[in-house]
Amino acid sequence: MDGDERFEALNSGRRSRAERFSAKKYWGQHFLRDSGVVDAIVAAVDPGPGLCVLEIGPGSGALTGPLVASGATVAALEIDPDLVRFLRTLYPPPALHVWEGDAARADWGALVQQACGARAFTVVGNLPYYLTGPLLARLWEADDPWERAVVMCQAEVAVRLAAEVGSVPAGAPTVLLQNLATVRVLLQVPPAAFDPPPEVQSTVIEIVRRAHPVVESRAALRTLVRAGFGQRRKTLVRALASTGFRSEWWKARLQDLSIDSRIRAERLSLDQWREISALFLREAPHAERQKLV
Ligand code: SAM
Repeated sequence: MDGDERFEALNSGRRSRAERFSAKKYWGQHFLRDSGVVDAIVAAVDPGPGLCVLEIGPGSGALTGPLVASGATVAALEIDPDLVRFLRTLYPPPALHVWEGDAARADWGALVQQACGARAFTVVGNLPYYLTGPLLARLWEADDPWERAVVMCQAEVAVRLAAEVGSVPAGAPTVLLQNLATVRVLLQVPPAAFDPPPEVQSTVIEIVRRAHPVVESRAALRTLVRAGFGQRRKTLVRALASTGFRSEWWKARLQDLSIDSRIRAERLSLDQWREISALFLREAPHAERQKLV
């Protein structure tokens, strides 16, 4: 079924203009209509029997259809009740498990557990742009057993997430995500691939979870990264003063680690974040350390 046929099906039985489905801007609805892009995303996911997929924002099912057809177990979270009803009719359970709700707040692990059992899962989505940050943050904030993600987001977000940690485009999300996973750009997608077309260019990225995080204590890394990037214009030693250790202390410790004390957070490599996190954990007062491990 192509994009036009989906809209025909979505609108069947709706007679008046007012009843017809139209994309809701406030939910970031831009539906994929380019079958070449759909095929490329689905090929990157490489679905099949045995794979458990959590799709965020399935919309009218452009990606959902081929995922379901592959024999993968597909769970989906969609906020628009109109689209949820439509998807349930098109792909009745158990082909598709679709929940109505806000994907930024839903318990992904519990939903996947219901759909697939205790299996690792792949996250797929042409993400609503207004919510890309909170949705992707779920990958590094929550304890869900995701192992891969193939997602489309704004091109500029993709550039930042895929940038090498320590280079200028990298931000706090880059460090927190790449601590857990490698990130690769797969495909650039122009606005004309969507109906209605968005105002920005889009990019599909692949995120593959590492066997082990670079920094074992996510909490320690989060504290340091937030402090470091929270005051980007300050040098790292001055920004890190908000962690409870004075700038002079940090300056001496960075020198011990052969890190230039005039460096800013965005220039630190992932290995240097690991070294600083280890030091922070070792030196933080006992009570703090318990919260951080
Ligand atoms: N996957 C479809 C496609 O590629 O054609 C639709 C993608 S569209 C860019 C984003 C989808 O996310 C829409 O269906 C929208 O209703 C849904 N959405 C928006 N906010 C959401 C939220 N908070 N939780 C779950 N779904 C959401």
